[in-house]
Amino acid sequence: MAAGTGVFAEILDGDVYKYYADGEWKTASSGKTVAIINPTTRKTQYKVQACSQEEVNKVMDLAKSAQKLWAKTPLWKRAELLHKAAAILKEHKAPIAECLVKEIAKPAKDAVTEVVRSGDLISYTAEEGVRILGEGKFLVSDSFPGNERTKYCLTSKIPLGVILAIPPFNYPVNLAVSKIAPALIAGNSIVLKPPTQGAVSGLHMIHCFHLAGFPKGLINCVTGKGSEIGDFLTMHPGVNCISFTGGDTGIGISKKAGMIPLQMELGGKDACIVLEDADLDLVAINIIKGGFSYSGQRCTAVKVVLVIESVADALVEKVKANVAKLTVGPPEDDSDITPVVSESSANYIEGLVLDAKEKGATFCQEYKREGNLIWPLLLDHVRPDMRIAWEEPFGPVLPVIRINSVEEGIHHCNASNFGLQGCVFTKDVNKAILISDAMETGTVQINSAPARGPDHFPFQGIKDSGIGSQGITNSINMMTKVKTTVINLPSPSYTMG
Ligand code: NAP
Repeated sequence: MAAGTGVFAEILDGDVYKYYADGEWKTASSGKTVAIINPTTRKTQYKVQACSQEEVNKVMDLAKSAQKLWAKTPLWKRAELLHKAAAILKEHKAPIAECLVKEIAKPAKDAVTEVVRSGDLISYTAEEGVRILGEGKFLVSDSFPGNERTKYCLTSKIPLGVILAIPPFNYPVNLAVSKIAPALIAGNSIVLKPPTQGAVSGLHMIHCFHLAGFPKGLINCVTGKGSEIGDFLTMHPGVNCISFTGGDTGIGISKKAGMIPLQMELGGKDACIVLEDADLDLVAINIIKGGFSYSGQRCTAVKVVLVIESVADALVEKVKANVAKLTVGPPEDDSDITPVVSESSANYIEGLVLDAKEKGATFCQEYKREGNLIWPLLLDHVRPDMRIAWEEPFGPVLPVIRINSVEEGIHHCNASNFGLQGCVFTKDVNKAILISDAMETGTVQINSAPARGPDHFPFQGIKDSGIGSQGITNSINMMTKVKTTVINLPSPSYTMG
């Protein structure tokens, strides 16, 4: 089945995809649409509705009332529906993967993997939710000084209300369900604002939830450009929590949002520190996987290599040999390197490359670009005065900085505004742990490239890389608040007889 056909036919109105509210697919009253440009052909591939502020207001009201009933729905029933949605999503992996290929130029096999991983994430969340949300606490008062045993305190976790979910273009399905599933299992309702590039994949994914039979109004999806409806959504009084994944936009949202819980998964400049005793073949493979998969458009991509000078020549040679094996071309051919998401993104990457050239970096390959397609490039002898030493290219361009000591590497890592992940390669586990402790990042991987998954691991950024901790369990907890009920017993002088 192709995208927009079969069970997905009802989400299309002519050549424009509808938005989803009150359990129905609708056309926006504005009559305006937003074009989604195929990064490979650079032509309009799809169109989505440009939702208006009135439509957002309506959706917020619907989400608020639907949430009240949903919170009363037994946990096992919520889990059952999530399992159903997961199965439907996996069943329709082909048409959804097709959208990912056309909207964000994700290599064909990776696109299928993203959908299947998302189904697994939903199922795991349902199971984890049943376990952790079924537990509470029981406290008695006489453990605190001055108190008699006259108060019994019961705690449980209750939902926050309406969760606004805003994922980025690079994982529009996986990073949407990583918000939707925890929100729903915890008894919340959802308003999803998908990224423009990735919106149609997101709408297909939402239709799988629709087919699973969730109550009307509980799940909603409004489309439109973030720059146009973003502020209205994030500052809307009907929103009780924002779960956002993306770049600097998240810093702006954090400043503008009201007094509500925020989950912010933002950018990174993940450093790969390579010590003298490292297994250089292993490092080279991980640099390729970490730095160049999905053309470097991953928050946890290796974004700077910090290698001890004495092994730098050998490492660069090995990485160069592996770069030469990467295939470059369209996502339909499952090429390793595919066009980056937009022309502006390609121009930004080119700006970093030209700056490095002007300041004397060594180009290990010739710089080559056709449209949005940029050939993989390793830049050696990068110095801290070059922009690429600090900025996130979000493309297949990787800087190597040669260092004279481990301390120099840690210093570079910690001088970054970002603090998402990092990795260290050494055979000395004691040293690795000390370096991990010294690196100011949310996660450090020892002898492997940074990675978000498996999806139940805690995942968090510090500094400009985020607020809060994600991963399935943490996200469920984050989307709840603690409610306590205190049973007050008579004073100790009271007699029962
Ligand atoms: P982005 O430009 O910040 O956009 C992210 C989302 O925000 C999109 O849905 C976008 O919608 C929306 N948006 C734009 N302006 C908005 C506004 N004023 N208010 C509310 N929403 C608004 O990021 P991106 O280019 O899609 O993604 C790449 C970035 O995400 C990189 O920095 C990457 O490191 C980061 N990322 C982080 C993680 C993590 O877990 N830490 C994971 C993946 C990616 P439109 O598309 O309509 O503009």
